[in-house]
Amino acid sequence: MKIIWEKTQKLISERVGTQFYELWFKPVELAQIKDGQAVLEIPNRFFKEWIEDGYPGLIPEALKEVTGETLKVKFRMSEKLDAESRKMDNLLENRKTRLASRGIYLNPKYIFQNFVVGDSNRFASAAAEAVAANPGRAYNPLFIYGGVGLGKTHLVSAVGNAVVDRIKNFRVLYVSSEQFTNEVVHAVRHGKTDELKAKYRNLDLLLLDDVQFIENKAATQEELFHTLNALYEGQRQIVISSDRPPKDIKNVTDRLRSRFNMGLIADIQSPEFETKLAIIQKKAEMERIALPPAVVEFLAKKVKSNIRELEGCLIRLAAHSSLTGSPIDVEMTKTILKDIITDDDKPLTVEVIMKAVSEHFGIKLADMKTKKRTKEIALPRQVAMYLARELTEASLSDIGKAAGGKDHATVIYACKQVADRRASNSDFDHMIGSLAGKLKP
Ligand code: ADP
Ligand code: MG
Repeated sequence: MKIIWEKTQKLISERVGTQFYELWFKPVELAQIKDGQAVLEIPNRFFKEWIEDGYPGLIPEALKEVTGETLKVKFRMSEKLDAESRKMDNLLENRKTRLASRGIYLNPKYIFQNFVVGDSNRFASAAAEAVAANPGRAYNPLFIYGGVGLGKTHLVSAVGNAVVDRIKNFRVLYVSSEQFTNEVVHAVRHGKTDELKAKYRNLDLLLLDDVQFIENKAATQEELFHTLNALYEGQRQIVISSDRPPKDIKNVTDRLRSRFNMGLIADIQSPEFETKLAIIQKKAEMERIALPPAVVEFLAKKVKSNIRELEGCLIRLAAHSSLTGSPIDVEMTKTILKDIITDDDKPLTVEVIMKAVSEHFGIKLADMKTKKRTKEIALPRQVAMYLARELTEASLSDIGKAAGGKDHATVIYACKQVADRRASNSDFDHMIGSLAGKLKP
């Protein structure tokens, strides 16, 4: 057993790199292999989530290479679970099974019970609960919009899970708008539009995530319009999410936009301090992470952007603490999260902007500082100059210097290019807006 696991770990380490290996795979033990199943022992539930979400298939593949067997991987926590966690796990497993048996692709973890309600999301969550209690009769469609990582997918899914938990034989479908688009394209190309209609127009509940994706896509919009009509007329519930309100979705037909507007529109705002406090406390409690109040406050104050990021911070803290055996405190938090947390005392610099932009575009910081003029580099460089101009007090010549020795006319030109593009391209505008928001919340 030991040798199997050592070999498997070696393969995994080669694939994911030592840093991730040390953090997420080294602490995992192989407890047994039996009946085609490999049982892995993990220090806490984060490992299961992290490994399954981040590296699906990796362990089974590595095990197969080593043993030649196709093994199912099962995780189990090394410490004994207390009754409450076991109950939660059971509920989750039951829902998972139920969803799978009904062929519904919904995340079973996204339920109302663990959605923290605060001023920023109270209206949207109340609307979603009303819809879940009375699908097709309350608000139709329910259109939820808000920035990234603020809980749209969670709320939309919670409607689905609540209905699936309560009503048998309710036909529920969760789909991202990207997938819907792909299906439309496929159906049109292969002359299978009847099948598509049969799939989408015979539902009791349609959950359509990230609808802004259909901007500019005429065939998809056409199909969606008729789908929504058919469902609406049959008093079937529709729940839609989007990162912007209907009026800001560009290049969408008027009749589709007015469909979006026909029910209830609810927005989710960035969480205010109190809501963030409550969310952190709730997550820590659910995951059995001991967080002193000072750390909870520190996180609520310092993590600016969104809830997904807050969760990521908690996971990193919990992992670090469980690996080192030291309790979480503010000092540890500062060290572990130093690249995430913005320091309010330090002014934003051109360098920080350049780095953030290069990371965003996935290019090397060093390349942005050269004279290279390829498109992949030139656009990010222009964006960095623009953001530096907007967000710092740096002079044109300092900005030019940092961006590979450009003169001030080039900086002015870059700023104008970016501004023009923002005005004419809403995706681009959005992207720059969110980059700026991250840099200077
Ligand atoms: P979006 O779809 O708006 O980008 P998600 O629904 O994926 O955001 O949310 C990101 C993460 O934050 C998810 O793990 C979700 O469970 C969590 N989350 C968001 N809002 C809340 C909340 N109010 N209470 C608890 N968890 C939340
Ligand atoms: Mg989402």
